[in-house]
Amino acid sequence: MPIRYAVATACMLAAGSWHEDALAQGAPDPASSAAYRKAASARTAEDPKLVWTASQVALVAREVAPNVFAVYADDAPQKTAAGIPVATSGGFIIGDRAVMIIDTMLNRQLAGQVMALVRERTKNPIRYIVNTSYHGDHSYGNQFFPADAQIIQHRATQDYIRQSFAKDVAFMTRHFGSNQGLAELKPVPASVLLEDKADITVDLGGQHARIRHIGFAQTAGDLWVTAAGGKVVFTGNPVIARAPAFPWLLDGHLRESLATMKALRATLPADAVVVPGHGEPATVKVVDDHIAYLDRLKQRIEESIAARKSRDETVSGAGMPEYTGYRIYPWVHLQVNVPAAYDEQELKRQQRNYTSGGLRRSGPRLGGPVRLQSAQRTATM
Ligand SMILES: [Zn+2]
Repeated sequence: MPIRYAVATACMLAAGSWHEDALAQGAPDPASSAAYRKAASARTAEDPKLVWTASQVALVAREVAPNVFAVYADDAPQKTAAGIPVATSGGFIIGDRAVMIIDTMLNRQLAGQVMALVRERTKNPIRYIVNTSYHGDHSYGNQFFPADAQIIQHRATQDYIRQSFAKDVAFMTRHFGSNQGLAELKPVPASVLLEDKADITVDLGGQHARIRHIGFAQTAGDLWVTAAGGKVVFTGNPVIARAPAFPWLLDGHLRESLATMKALRATLPADAVVVPGHGEPATVKVVDDHIAYLDRLKQRIEESIAARKSRDETVSGAGMPEYTGYRIYPWVHLQVNVPAAYDEQELKRQQRNYTSGGLRRSGPRLGGPVRLQSAQRTATM
């Protein structure tokens, strides 16, 4: 999802006063960007049947540290505040010798908007592309960037794309529409594969981008990109947007996701700017809020299992009314997160009973999508 900027922003960062309000006030005037104006004039209406409508999206770029830009939908602040899901956010970092793109968006039209926002600011070559996950709205646009740019992914991301690209595009077409340009997509092989716990730094010339794999957060291959000496972090989907949004555990793994998020949080300075996967730049509070949700979910599930409640009883009884401001709460919380967390916790309880001589019941009904195996723990770069 999308973006904006400015000198005022840089001053606020320097002063260490990057607060939620300042973020809202520091948003640049999108009309100052010809690339944005072009995108805004071409946008379509929203299709109410879709989670968000790619052809409605007009991206803005906001400078969140010198030459470090977040890219997000122009209506992200308003939609996020109203609990409405927002299009994909990403960003770019401009160095003296090279530009790095973080996430390439869903299709040609959105990738083209990112490219135009970059070209409005620099002629330096785009040498690196990072995909924070395999999700199509973060990686499908790879083919529309310069062919000589190095694509950096976690090995699990590449494995998924190799094995499941056609199926994934079919899935995404069902959810994002058959008229959003997904039919022309082709998988692009990565140039640099990172293994579990990889931690590399890319020198862009006067700018260093650090790319890390910490652990499972929403997929097996989530990468975190930090810039400006750690003051800016691009998160991809694991941090989705400011409250009332909360994490989507599409592939389960509540415990690992929670551990990864806490490990990430421990590395962030108090005045860090967090560029989430689907919203405007935020403070570290957005990470704290995601951790709080996951902690609360874990607690609810543990209570339910301790009370011997069934899966269905847990789903109907594990409501968290404080999160219903997120419009897709019934789906994300009740249909995705609670069942996934229940299955994980119940499996763990059964394994404990089994190893301690207790009765082994029939296996749990594991809900969630494919669980990717972790790769070797050796960085290749
Ligand atoms: Zn996404």
